[in-house]
Amino acid sequence: MIMFDPMPDELAIGHGNRLAILNGQGKISNLIPILHGKFQQHGVDIPGFSTLDLLANAVGMSTPAYTVEHSMLPVLRVTAQPGNEFIHGSCEGIRLNRRLGMLIPRKFSCVCSICINEDLEKYGYSYYRRSHHLNGVDWCPKHGEVLKRVNSEKPFTNFPHVWHREKRVEPLATCSHHIDETPELVRRYSEISLTFLKQSKPQTVTIANGRINLRA
Ligand SMILES: [Zn+2]
Repeated sequence: MIMFDPMPDELAIGHGNRLAILNGQGKISNLIPILHGKFQQHGVDIPGFSTLDLLANAVGMSTPAYTVEHSMLPVLRVTAQPGNEFIHGSCEGIRLNRRLGMLIPRKFSCVCSICINEDLEKYGYSYYRRSHHLNGVDWCPKHGEVLKRVNSEKPFTNFPHVWHREKRVEPLATCSHHIDETPELVRRYSEISLTFLKQSKPQTVTIANGRINLRA
C-alpha cells in the first residue's frame, strides 16, 4: 500500500479518505480493516484503537502529534476538569479519541476556491483543511474569501477540486463575501477559534472560568 503524510492542516477524515482512494479502496471505511491488519502483523492490534491511532501509525506519527495537527479535537475539547487536561490524542483519552476524534464541528464540509486553485497549481490535487471547518468561521483564514459548502452527503469521498469542477459547491450565506468587510467582533471570533485549533491540550475549567470572569 502507498502511505503518505497528511498535508499541513489537513483534516484526518480527508487524509484517511485520500489514502483509501489512492490505494483503490474508495473510502476510509474500507481502509480501516486493512490498517488494523497492519497492527496485527506486528502483534499489537487492539480492537479499541481509534481511527486516529490507525492513521497516525500508518504514516509513522504518534497519535497525539497527528491528533493535534489533523483532528478537530482541540476545538471540540477546549476545556477539561482539573486532572483531565491531558494532551489531545494521548492514551488517557482513548475513549474521547474514538468518540470525537474524526468529527468536525460543522454538519457539512467547506472548501475555499482560492485554496483549491493554489493546491492544484502547487500539488496537482486539493485537500480539506481543519481551518475551513470551524463553527462560525465562514471565511478562509488565509484568503478571507467566504467558504463554499460541498453539496454531497459524503463530501470527503472525493477531492475538493472535483466538487468544485462539478459545480457542487455553493457559498455560505453570510453577512459579507470577505472577512475584511465583517464587524470587528466577527474577525476577533475567527482569530480566537483559530487559536483554539492550535492548542495541544485543553485549558482547565478553573483557568477558563477565571479568565472569563476577568472580562465579564
Ligand atoms: Zn483559501
